[in-house]
Amino acid sequence: MTSPATADLLAQAAEYAAAWLAALPERSLGMPVAAEALRSRLGGALGDSGEDASKVISELVTALEPGLVATAGPRYFGFVASGSLPVAIAADWLVSAFDQNASMYVMSPAAAVAEEVTAEWLLDILGLARGCAVGFVTGGQMANFSCLAAARHSLLAAAGWDVEADGLRGAPAVTVVAGEHAHATVLQAIRLLGLGSANTIRVAADDHGRIRPDELRRTLQQAPGPVLVCAQAGEVNTGAVDPLRQIAGAVAEHGRAWLHVDGAFGLWASASPRLRCLTDGADLADSLTADAHKWLNVPYDCGIAIVRDPAALSAAMRVTAPYLHQSAGRDPFLFTPEVSRRARVLPVYAALRCLGRRGVAELVERCCELAQLAAVELAGCDRIRVLNEVVLNQVLFCIEGADESVTAAVIEKVQQDGTCWLGGTQWRGGPAIRFSVSTWSTTRDDICRSVAAITSAVEQVCG
Ligand SMILES: *Cc1c(COP(=O)(O)O)cnc(C)c1O
Repeated sequence: MTSPATADLLAQAAEYAAAWLAALPERSLGMPVAAEALRSRLGGALGDSGEDASKVISELVTALEPGLVATAGPRYFGFVASGSLPVAIAADWLVSAFDQNASMYVMSPAAAVAEEVTAEWLLDILGLARGCAVGFVTGGQMANFSCLAAARHSLLAAAGWDVEADGLRGAPAVTVVAGEHAHATVLQAIRLLGLGSANTIRVAADDHGRIRPDELRRTLQQAPGPVLVCAQAGEVNTGAVDPLRQIAGAVAEHGRAWLHVDGAFGLWASASPRLRCLTDGADLADSLTADAHKWLNVPYDCGIAIVRDPAALSAAMRVTAPYLHQSAGRDPFLFTPEVSRRARVLPVYAALRCLGRRGVAELVERCCELAQLAAVELAGCDRIRVLNEVVLNQVLFCIEGADESVTAAVIEKVQQDGTCWLGGTQWRGGPAIRFSVSTWSTTRDDICRSVAAITSAVEQVCG
């Protein structure tokens, strides 16, 4: 039984949460307060005696409020950030209330089976083989890490080396190959795995940031030993997807190779009958990364590691101790680097069921259509040039003739105005601005209001 005090506290939290979500669409995206102001509100010495729970919650909300950023709102176009579907937020609350340890079947048969079912649904909507292993990790970074750990295991095991037992010293060399535009977290995963990002061969990309298959073939021809190839579905600036089928062909020709696809956001294109031509060949990869907290619109934190050979993933992730009894059920810790962890699958389950296959496709398609609209509207403005072919949910643009500092000034002006939020980047040696559409609640009106704010910022800065 929940004691009345607990129920009251949760009701109080629910009220704050509902108020936050209701205000989200119109919350200004202007510059958040300085850290010092937050420190003074949140800080002070920890008291010897505890405080009333309800007071702690209300004062926490008050203290945090000025530093909360509406990244989940409909006009936040920075990074690849998204807002959560209401059903996913509700399910996420239950994750905390149930407080299940989703590491072992015996600790939570509910979480273990929910993972099993959700994994099947995900593989189905993404067009991947049923037997793939699926690990629910914290995000794209850990999904890339887990997938590449499976790759390292598999490539070295095939060369007669037990990397889990014997480490990398004296191991057969693995050549790591990644596209020129591989995501920073892929390189971080390579570093964490002791493979060395500086040793990674970077394959030249085309104008949109896609790996050039001819260049990859050439690289593979010069690599006699085992090769780990990291491709990408969804370049973070342009949204471009590497030509996966051609890449998979080159990898298959080499033979002793593992193909990983970082599809943190781009892999969701596979869920749309209209867009899945972009990710054609993804099913040929040995491992893939997707982020549920990006385009599936579930709360942080939830990434998905998919590995075609479950034995490779569990060999890389295996933790053994006499008390970690494995049951006949699916033990989730065999598929992730963590042991104890929250049942983050529940919001994914809820989102998928609430949207259905068509709903997921529509969410992805709608964001892409809105990105198209943004590109058309932006291209209509004097001084703005759209730099990418908008194939997915990313628009990349620059201010004609603007250098680094003028571009930064425009970005700052947009951020000060607070209608929408955009961030800067570098593209082919010049400054550029990213516009990423990934949230269910974004409307055409949000795009038009935002483009108006951007145009006005450009006029104010450039005269
Ligand atoms: C966001 C992103 C990642 C990293 O994901 P996190 O969830 O932030 O760890 C990796 N690859 C790509 C292409 C991304 O867009």
